[in-house]
Amino acid sequence: MTADIDAAMCRALELAAAAQEWGDTPIGAVVLGPGGALLAGAANEREKRGDPTAHAEVLALRAAAQVHGDGWRLTGCTLVVTLEPCTMCAGASVLARVDQVVYGADDPKAGAAGSLWDVVRDRRLNHRPEVTAGVRAEESATLLRAFFRAQRGL
Ligand SMILES: [Zn+2]
Repeated sequence: MTADIDAAMCRALELAAAAQEWGDTPIGAVVLGPGGALLAGAANEREKRGDPTAHAEVLALRAAAQVHGDGWRLTGCTLVVTLEPCTMCAGASVLARVDQVVYGADDPKAGAAGSLWDVVRDRRLNHRPEVTAGVRAEESATLLRAFFRAQRGL
């Protein structure tokens, strides 16, 4: 499974890099099925779609549910994302019933998987995905830093 996770994060980083092409913050996400197969992947498309909810995780979870074959449920699946999920995406992963959330860089300003909030492991919720942080975190952080530096015109 570890090799699957690493390959999945690799793909998520490729998707993240692609988001810059249309001016979106470089964040990518993929969903792995229970056996580790790649079900779906998406990049952040907030700017591209003019949609405040078009985060990579939401798009990937939606696409994965279409192919997973259990309605809206993603039981047994793993969400792999380059940046710590925000409150919406952490909430979406709980609602989708994914077993695991794996992310790269921490997001101290908006992270909801341990940094600012911990929506995914809140004991008041009846489903709590297992969280793994810091997978290829430096590559994700480097992409984000370069993007924001370019945006500021430096
Ligand atoms: Zn989000």
